[in-house]
Amino acid sequence: MKTTKDQALIFELSEPGRISYSLPELDVPDVDLDEWLPEEFNRKNEPELPEVSELQLMRHYTALSKRNHGVDSGFYPLGSCTMKYNPKINEDVARYPGFAFIHPLQEEETVQGALEMMYNLQQNLVAVTGMDEVTLQPAAGAHGEWTGLMMIRAYHEANGDYNRTKVIVPDSAHGTNPASATVAGFEAVTVKSNEKGLVDLEDLKRVVDGDTAALMLTNPNTLGLFEEQITEMAEIIHNAGGKLYYDGANMNAIMGAARPGDMGFDVVHLNLHKTFTGPHGGGGPGSGPVGVKADLIPYLPKPVLVKEDGAYRFEYDRPQSIGRVKPYYGNFGINVRAYTYIRTMGPEGLKQVSENAVLNANYMMRRLEGAFVLPYKQHCKHEFVISGKNQKKLGVRTLDMAKRLLDFGYHPPTIYFPINVEECMMIEPTETESKETLDEFCDRLLQIAKEVEDNPEIVQEAPHTTVIGRLDETTAARKPILRYQKA
Ligand SMILES: *Cc1c(COP(=O)(O)O)cnc(C)c1O
Repeated sequence: MKTTKDQALIFELSEPGRISYSLPELDVPDVDLDEWLPEEFNRKNEPELPEVSELQLMRHYTALSKRNHGVDSGFYPLGSCTMKYNPKINEDVARYPGFAFIHPLQEEETVQGALEMMYNLQQNLVAVTGMDEVTLQPAAGAHGEWTGLMMIRAYHEANGDYNRTKVIVPDSAHGTNPASATVAGFEAVTVKSNEKGLVDLEDLKRVVDGDTAALMLTNPNTLGLFEEQITEMAEIIHNAGGKLYYDGANMNAIMGAARPGDMGFDVVHLNLHKTFTGPHGGGGPGSGPVGVKADLIPYLPKPVLVKEDGAYRFEYDRPQSIGRVKPYYGNFGINVRAYTYIRTMGPEGLKQVSENAVLNANYMMRRLEGAFVLPYKQHCKHEFVISGKNQKKLGVRTLDMAKRLLDFGYHPPTIYFPINVEECMMIEPTETESKETLDEFCDRLLQIAKEVEDNPEIVQEAPHTTVIGRLDETTAARKPILRYQKA
């Protein structure tokens, strides 16, 4: 790790006796903790904490924060993750005392405003998805998938249909789909994509039978392509008695233009932390509401929020419910942000979001297609996939090019996913970026493609400008070192 003195971590700057805090005078009786605490809890040695001044401490945390890349610091085209700008008005509203300082165990009469916000958000999401009712409980997209599948299971079981053990998942689905199906107790069965990158209907017909509980469809799929034969697929599954699950995490591709409910889908989840601008760096918190058609309403997680005579209350008497999937109100703060976003954009604004997200992606795809292999030639939705297989022939891998982008201050795209495209990069620009930003990024990526031909070492050895170069990513994930260790 290259560090200048200013960037040095506080552990190396420690000087005995330096402190960065001042506590107020003690205003409670002093106790001798050694006597008061049981022996086994008493510390035998001084804690090994750094002793630094307040200014050193400030610089330590500021230096650490600068090592991160966020949407507020630069372009972040991480495909499938929708790293778009999080409007700061959302933060303002989430901090209103009536939202921020209420307690989840307060009486319902005292939190009517918060419940009204949740109810209105549910209604707005009903309108966006074309479903009949929405729950805000699930805490993320994958949690929404699992919740939806548990409702589908409850539905089949209520019909005495105990043999529906399979959930069909296309190979172009998001990776969480087969995982959620497995965790919900189903067998995940793969259906293949055709040469256009869409679900192969013949293969679908082959795998569908009386054991089919559901089809889980990511649409647009992870190649950024809209499934053209979606109504045919819906018919095949429904005719076999199965249910249709729509992974709507990437609703930003079709919002205001098309609705899963109108395509025949029975369940859909949304990612409020993607399409609806919840900040989601660092893994959360998220919110993955689930919408269902009328015949699945009895199975919604309880309690269900209802409106009666102008007042809002939670209804617990739901005998067929799958139960609670999250304590209290779900991730309430993210729901406030999403509601603020929907209200600031309005229906026309939301439609324009999708139009611009799709326009930006197609613009970049056409700028890059000469230098990189474009495996699927048709127009894309909100994201697209290119392949670095020509560059690989010259000894430079997609990983190298992703690392080289770091030198120019960009977060790299998603790489090596989806797995059915060799050496791929999955690029999602989002609608919040300007044409200048898209052009600059494309210029840099085209420059890197040229470097691969003229000067491959500079790409193979990248990054050259970051504090840390290349990590052993497997060991970092499996055996992470989470505590400071002296070099
Ligand atoms: C992000 C994403 C998910 C998973 O959402 P999480 O909130 O990360 O659990 C599922 N499906 C698709 C298509 C996604 O893009």
